[in-house]
Amino acid sequence: MTALIQLRGINKYFGDYHALRDIDLEIKQGEFFSLLGPSGCGKTTLLRTIAGFEDPSAGTLSIDGRPMAGVPANKRPTNMVFQSYAIFPHLTVAENVGFGLRRDPRSKAEKAGAVKDALEMVGLGGYGARSAHALSGGQRQRVALARALILKPKVLLLDEPLSALDRKMRELMQVELMKLQRQVGITFILVTHDQEEALVMSDRVAVMFDGQIRQMDDPEAIYTRPRSREVAAFIGKMNFLPGTLHSSGEGVEADVAGLGRAMIPPDRVTPGLGSGPAVIGLRPESLAVLFEGETTTRRTVEGTVDEVVYYGDMTYYDVRIAGVDEPLNIAMKNLVGRDVLEVGTATRVAWDERSLVPLAP
Ligand code: ATP
Repeated sequence: MTALIQLRGINKYFGDYHALRDIDLEIKQGEFFSLLGPSGCGKTTLLRTIAGFEDPSAGTLSIDGRPMAGVPANKRPTNMVFQSYAIFPHLTVAENVGFGLRRDPRSKAEKAGAVKDALEMVGLGGYGARSAHALSGGQRQRVALARALILKPKVLLLDEPLSALDRKMRELMQVELMKLQRQVGITFILVTHDQEEALVMSDRVAVMFDGQIRQMDDPEAIYTRPRSREVAAFIGKMNFLPGTLHSSGEGVEADVAGLGRAMIPPDRVTPGLGSGPAVIGLRPESLAVLFEGETTTRRTVEGTVDEVVYYGDMTYYDVRIAGVDEPLNIAMKNLVGRDVLEVGTATRVAWDERSLVPLAP
């Protein structure tokens, strides 16, 4: 499939500050694409460049095969939903949604029909006559979405659209946004600093640091096969153990502190990382503490429970093992009838070669 949006060698300077560095990016028609990274990494600047609110200092951008240099924001096939969704409180919900259609040559009745459809699409059918100032945060977000969608953009740009919502509402809206995007088939580009949000909603995620895209992949690949320590640590929790890699014709083996020698699965081998010192990553849920009497076919190592953090559905254990300075962080589902281990308990930690992630030191 050809790319709907194509960025080549995009750089952006604010004075001396190099905010975007050599961004190459292709986004497909119908894709839900996220720009994820810590505050200040340049994700909003990149989104604003696609929207036409910022001009790149170098590089080219085209949308739908058309070069965008010199094309103002309001002439681009994009529409932006802002973090502070500017709803007009003195207008009704329907008037807010229809605002963008005021110069549309269609009849009043046709426009009213379009507003109704857009409101139904975002789950606000029947809310048209309500005053916008009385809406909840989640409803405002929906109004902002309906207002953007009614203009039928090819690309919808969303800058932290859910950040003002409380946790429950945010989780609900994540799923709704994802469903909505599938339904309308419009390309969505989302800016977020929330890794869970990016993983939940996106077809692909670009992880940004310091104005650069460090990794671009589907959510599962980003989570299970991060290609750098930075990305690994930003996306969820990760244990890092010192190690040494040995590459040979047979594949890559690792000597992992505290765990011993292990074969690295071929799909986990980071390109460009040869023999020598490395850091070996292990996600907390790829490790397990063994409860009394429990056996496993996985490899195990002895340890002592150092800390216990109980989350209701899960417990996070810190377990000390010999030969490693930092305790291993281990996530366990809590099961009915199984007690949470106490601090000081001697246990064994089960691990698996398949979940080792070798990274540059
Ligand atoms: P946040 O999540 O905090 O918004 P971000 O990743 O979206 O962060 P940007 O807003 O793109 O980051 O900003 C990237 C860097 O560029 C920041 O250091 C910011 O201070 C700087 N910057 C952004 N806009 C301008 C501007 N108009 N003039 C000068 N510097 C700017």
